[in-house]
Amino acid sequence: MTKVLAINAGSSSLKFQLLAMPSEEVLTVGLVERIGLTDGVFKIEFKDEEVKKTLDIPNHTKAVELLMDALLENKIVESFDEIAGVGHRVVHGGEKFGSSVVVTPEVLADIEALSDLAPLHNPANMTGIKAFVEKLPNAISVAVFDTAFHQTMPATSYLYPIKHDLYKKHAIRKYGFHGTSHQFVSERAIALLGLPADKTRIITVHIGNGGSLTAVKGGKSIDTSMGFTPLAGIMMGTRSGDVDPAVVPYIMEKEGIDVNQAVDLLNKQSGLVGVSELSSDMRDITSGVEAGNVGAKLAFDLFIKRITDYIGSYLMTLGGADAIVFTAGIGENAGVVRKAILEKLAFLGVEINEEANNTRGQELLVSTADSKIKAFVIPTNEEIMIARDTFSFLTST
Ligand code: ADP
Repeated sequence: MTKVLAINAGSSSLKFQLLAMPSEEVLTVGLVERIGLTDGVFKIEFKDEEVKKTLDIPNHTKAVELLMDALLENKIVESFDEIAGVGHRVVHGGEKFGSSVVVTPEVLADIEALSDLAPLHNPANMTGIKAFVEKLPNAISVAVFDTAFHQTMPATSYLYPIKHDLYKKHAIRKYGFHGTSHQFVSERAIALLGLPADKTRIITVHIGNGGSLTAVKGGKSIDTSMGFTPLAGIMMGTRSGDVDPAVVPYIMEKEGIDVNQAVDLLNKQSGLVGVSELSSDMRDITSGVEAGNVGAKLAFDLFIKRITDYIGSYLMTLGGADAIVFTAGIGENAGVVRKAILEKLAFLGVEINEEANNTRGQELLVSTADSKIKAFVIPTNEEIMIARDTFSFLTST
């Protein structure tokens, strides 16, 4: 049995899972939060136990030490040598990375160079990678990019109709995000459909706090709703999604704010929270709708329309669809959201299975078995994808 760590390092947090491969059994999960602060939080779960500590966690190196010590102390591993690989989520792979790679000094330099495109994320991801290399010098490190799955998009999907020089000089184009999740759920949907993989047409709807849709043809991403940054596409918890770019200078002038504040407004004070003036959380929005809250209803309806607009567009891009897949916090749990979306597709012969749709949090067919387009709920699992990719390098070398 090989043990592999799947790591998601942010600027002040580090989420981890230790998996046994190839069985994909999760041995432990945990989280370090508030890194850089004196009241940092460390949490680890294994078997039926949970350990939680509040302590000074000045940096990622300390966070990794805490994790490794806890693995030994709680006998989750006997020695660090048992951990053969560490897979890291890296947000931006630019045009350089179309798949996961083993981290070398050259790869680290490339990830660093891409920090321009993801200034908040890539540096944090790199800090995580370096901290593990220090602690586990014999394990391989693998970078798994959020953007990689979308590198198969054709130019007609990834280019913006702007002065081409801007693409050539500054790499301004659509990259797309949540790739690991879209890949995971579309691979699973292909298996569930039982059709020849290269013929499948799937629309994946990843809706959590952030959200994006992807058109997946023959297992490959051919278009996705997020863009140059994760601000584009559908309406999200706090992000606007697509707006006329000319809105930005207009907001700046009218509100007397600078460009960073205007972009912040679109990133943090828009979407569900901005429209509803109530909450960014879909649970509050749906209970608000039930209670007759006007803002919540408007936000809910707009959220659904933005999604069905993209589904309409991807039906054209794909030339129809075999399946629509719902995933992430809202997609997996909010039956009312799925129902509102699927009802709008009734004219295409989509038939919802109400009973299945009212069930929560597991893999499900939520359309009828002979619906023209099948609708599935498939819980996403980015950690398994990271562990699989890491394990694949261990077995191929
Ligand atoms: P992130 O993008 O931060 O990973 P998640 O995938 O965890 O987010 O999704 C968070 C969203 O899922 C929130 O809007 C939350 O309200 C929603 N959500 C979680 N459970 C439910 C539920 N039972 N009903 C409706 N929405 C839910």
